[in-house]
Amino acid sequence: MTHLIGNGILITRNAELPLIGDGCVAIEGNTIVDFGTSADMKRKYESAAFDDVYGSLIMPGLINTHGHIYSALARGMSLSGGKVSKNFTQILENLWWRVDRALGIEEIKSSAYTTYLDGIRNGVTTVFDHHASAGKVQGSLFTIADVAKEIGVRTSLCYEVSDRDGQQISDAGIAENADFIDYAKAQNSNMLKAMFGLHASFTLSDETLTKCADAAGDTGFHVHVAEGIDDLNDCIAKHGKRVVQRLNDFGIIGNNTLSVHCIHIDEAEKDILKQNDCIVVHNPESNMGNAVGCSDVLGMMDKGILVGLGTDGFTTDMLESLKVANLIHKHQQGDPSVGWAQAPQMLFEKNAKICARFFDKPLGIIDRGALADIIIIDYNAPTPITQDNIDAHMLFGLMGRSVTSTMINGKYVMRNRDIIDVDESKIYADSRQVAKEFWDKV
Ligand SMILES: [Zn+2]
Repeated sequence: MTHLIGNGILITRNAELPLIGDGCVAIEGNTIVDFGTSADMKRKYESAAFDDVYGSLIMPGLINTHGHIYSALARGMSLSGGKVSKNFTQILENLWWRVDRALGIEEIKSSAYTTYLDGIRNGVTTVFDHHASAGKVQGSLFTIADVAKEIGVRTSLCYEVSDRDGQQISDAGIAENADFIDYAKAQNSNMLKAMFGLHASFTLSDETLTKCADAAGDTGFHVHVAEGIDDLNDCIAKHGKRVVQRLNDFGIIGNNTLSVHCIHIDEAEKDILKQNDCIVVHNPESNMGNAVGCSDVLGMMDKGILVGLGTDGFTTDMLESLKVANLIHKHQQGDPSVGWAQAPQMLFEKNAKICARFFDKPLGIIDRGALADIIIIDYNAPTPITQDNIDAHMLFGLMGRSVTSTMINGKYVMRNRDIIDVDESKIYADSRQVAKEFWDKV
């Protein structure tokens, strides 16, 4: 049974035909089978159901290549006895590590529900999450996976192994990754993937990294790399080398590894990333918020390194992250001419390329054979939209909440701003209750 979504401005992210003014997508099951003008598609698929979007934008779903579901309940929390954090390490110690130690299954579940739903409202259809919950390691990824399945969101999960809470928690993290990798492989589904999560070099001993490399096998890693200057300083002091060099010595820097941030790295480390075809993920808002510096991702892209765009849990709105990715490099370099091209490339082209390393069918593109992750956006453009100025409309005209409908794997999870199949109001009411009790625990 073919299903058409048409009568909209179709933005394909497909070089073959980037923009169709009165465009239409044809879907069968979970796959895009065709696209073209609405008139052509209606003629070709006469008996197909037709969803009229009345001139809205039709685009591929957005992809977030680095998020933290575990941070959801911290919104608005005030820490009693909390110290003022004057650097990134203090932010981790005073806030995030206290949060992740206090998480239990109910908190993890609430965090997953609200984070995925918020993403869907912002048109995010695929999420690479980096999870930590020292208070409840075993089963944490399975809990998140169950929520993702119930909501119908595409996701890749991993547990951030760290020695910061002692050997037992570190080993539990390794076991959780290993169990979940086996589970995801057995599922053999394009809705759920697993990676091997590592927190960061400065909280991982050589012994633990050896264990992780053994346990991961051919599965790629998802790891914070040289986010704060302390990660670099620690690495030089304890190991006599820089962070990318150290991780590479354990076989962690490969073409299916997400090296997140890469702020305090030098040219030789960039060369290692390039030689190993390793993926870098840029999170500009989070980096500014933590005052950790500005990653030279533009230089890395010039070297041919695959750089994608994430949020690091700062937001679930990829269009917000896009706007800041455009601005941070202009500000950093004192040059208003930079960033225009690269920021949209990271979100639309590179994130799709990253997905291609983990999923069996194309994502982030309107093309025959791609998975049917499609968003519909309410946008009354004050100026013409042409195939040459699409990204200017993304940067200056759109925000996540402009999305009215989100389809994942051929199924609407939000239609005309109604979340389908799950009780959103109840989920948010429960989350507020869980958060209240959680704040007391933290
Ligand atoms: Zn992160």
